[in-house]
Amino acid sequence: MSGNSVRLQAIKDVEAYVPPAVSFAASEAPGEIFGENVFSTTVMQKRLPKSVYKSVLATIEGSAPLDPLVADAVASAMKDWALEKGATHYAHVFYPLTGLTAEKHDSFLDPVGDGTALAEFAGKTLVQGEPDASSFPNGGLRNTFEARGYTGWDVMSPAYVLENPNGNTLCIPTVFVSMTGEALDHKTPLLRSQSAMADHAERVLRLFGHSPSRVVSYCGPEQEYFLVDSHFYLARPDLLNAGRTLFGARPPKGQEFDDHYFGAIPARVLGFMMDTERELFKLGIPAKTRHNEVAPGQFEIAPMFERANVASDHQQLLMTTFKSVARKHGMECLFHEKPFDGVNGSGKHVNFSLGNATEGNLLLPGDTPHDNAQFLVFCAAVIRAVHKYGGLLRASVASASNDHRLGANEAPPAIISIFLGDQLADVFDQIAKGGATRSKEKGTMMIGVDSLPVLPTDPGDRNRTSPFAFTGNRFEFRAPGSLQTVAGPMVTINTIMAEALDFIATSLETALAAGTDFDEAVQDVLAGIIADHGAVIFNGNGYSEEWQVEAEQRGLKNLRTTVDALPELVSEDAMELFEKYQVFNHREMHSRYEIGLEQYVLSISVEANLTLEMGTTVILPAAVRYQTELAQNVAALKAAGVPADTSTLETVSGPIADLRAGLTALGAAIAHEADDDAMAHATYCRDSVLPVMAAVRAAADTLEGLVADDLWSLPTYQEMLYIL
Ligand code: ADP
Ligand code: MG
Repeated sequence: MSGNSVRLQAIKDVEAYVPPAVSFAASEAPGEIFGENVFSTTVMQKRLPKSVYKSVLATIEGSAPLDPLVADAVASAMKDWALEKGATHYAHVFYPLTGLTAEKHDSFLDPVGDGTALAEFAGKTLVQGEPDASSFPNGGLRNTFEARGYTGWDVMSPAYVLENPNGNTLCIPTVFVSMTGEALDHKTPLLRSQSAMADHAERVLRLFGHSPSRVVSYCGPEQEYFLVDSHFYLARPDLLNAGRTLFGARPPKGQEFDDHYFGAIPARVLGFMMDTERELFKLGIPAKTRHNEVAPGQFEIAPMFERANVASDHQQLLMTTFKSVARKHGMECLFHEKPFDGVNGSGKHVNFSLGNATEGNLLLPGDTPHDNAQFLVFCAAVIRAVHKYGGLLRASVASASNDHRLGANEAPPAIISIFLGDQLADVFDQIAKGGATRSKEKGTMMIGVDSLPVLPTDPGDRNRTSPFAFTGNRFEFRAPGSLQTVAGPMVTINTIMAEALDFIATSLETALAAGTDFDEAVQDVLAGIIADHGAVIFNGNGYSEEWQVEAEQRGLKNLRTTVDALPELVSEDAMELFEKYQVFNHREMHSRYEIGLEQYVLSISVEANLTLEMGTTVILPAAVRYQTELAQNVAALKAAGVPADTSTLETVSGPIADLRAGLTALGAAIAHEADDDAMAHATYCRDSVLPVMAAVRAAADTLEGLVADDLWSLPTYQEMLYIL
């Protein structure tokens, strides 16, 4: 079958495809199935002796380490429960620095001497595993002679049974550390950072007269994704191997396409959404699918917010579930940040708040001036944190794929600023003025003295161009990419919040010790923060050219690419910060920096090789065949004595020459000897490989608009985006 037939055949196959029927039995109503595969506290309460249950609950609530004696009892109950659910294996699930999810599976059955087997699952098996760590990135943290890594149950994140046609598995969410206890994963620092943030948030709450219960950070991730028919997906080596199209001309109508599209969701997509919801509900993931995205073929899902480490585990599980359910429906789910050039990309907005059982959401404006003073203090902490460590936030979402999205006019710019909304910004303005003059005269708002105006509880006018926006009761960090784990950004947010809350608590304690009145001390701290960090507040249009200029005047960083952003991780400030709050030691920071560069280089190298291969074996041959046809046509006309128009031939020959030159240059760029220094290598990829890939693509995309349709073998943007 010649190349062109692959595409035309795919179109026929898509047309003939009958999606699987989706139906829900009454027993599968959301209320019936929600959490049915989760070893939740409710299940534990039913199955564990009271004292054991209480002990586990204390661990979950963060006040006590897991008692080893208790672990045996929990393991035994968990095993019985899992066997009843048809599980044959158990797996420690962990989150290595590839950003993916890894699992080590073991059978419950242990052979006994007499040739039979016994279902065994001891406490120590539950709380600790030993997967071989040598195949996961470690950034120099582990020598191969000590290639062991250890997994340990994150008691706060419940175990669950994952169903699979080939057998069910009990999954235990775990941390993954080296023999020396250094983090090899995303979960370990997340737990450490939550604890640091909680300690200092509680100090602040005590100063406000509370006896707070454990403060936790919450995360509600909104996930955007594309669905593409499997037939097209399989006919695109770039989608298959790099997750994005490396070629493809924009459809004639461009980004907006037609608005009618959104009226109707294709039946199979609805079926997919119902199916994913059912699977997610069973796993206790509170999700509701939606379909309100900008691009055709693009959708969104936003689960209810949860404790950050649980939300992060659920987010990973959600992506895995989406991939597998999509395949069941003959589609591929794309999580890449920019699968289609010139079409809106996908992000993963991280909604963040902090709170606890006693004081509730600490980012919710209150009804009384006192409550509002507390709210403003927590808001001010965010302002300080984001201003002081904007570079780190940018670095936490840095990847080769997210570089395609940040800074384009669809996602927030690479400049990290805060949107507060006019009303809240005005409140802080007034505080700043009052603080500056120390005046209590009327008209200037003083915390706890005059009553504060009613603060916005409603997100009001949403500013979609801001990377860090206050949305009524939470901040929304919009820079994370759709492919990324939320753990990275959450670690950073928690840690920089710990620093800011530490600063605030210490300032207040010092002022109070010096005899300053509480309200005045709060006023001073707030005014000081606004004076020092107010530059990060920006309510205007983040996409505008003027903002780039203004941000620079304000001293805000504009770290355009991953290569610019990653060094933030190993700056003096950052290393000191993470060490102080015991989230990362210097070695761990260096390892993350190295891995970030490694992944960047890896990702661009894969794409460069694919570009070269597809350009050489798919696109150039199609173009040359067409050129030959045209040349033969000209020759035939001339032979027949008919005046031959050579303009089409010339039009095609230009970009063919460009393509050839581009491919030669790309081959040379790839062959260039790799630099030993990771930063130099990454910089080379950005400055000398990406531009050459772009040149190859430009020539190829021009040819797509010229070459006869029946010779073009790659499914087009229009086909992939519109046919579902
Ligand atoms: P929008 O599209 O307007 O940004 P969505 O409803 O799509 O809002 O998403 C809001 C996300 O924010 C959801 O995941 C939701 O659970 C989460 N969220 C709501 N309140 C909080 C909160 N207090 N803390 C963290 N996340 C929250
Ligand atoms: Mg949102």
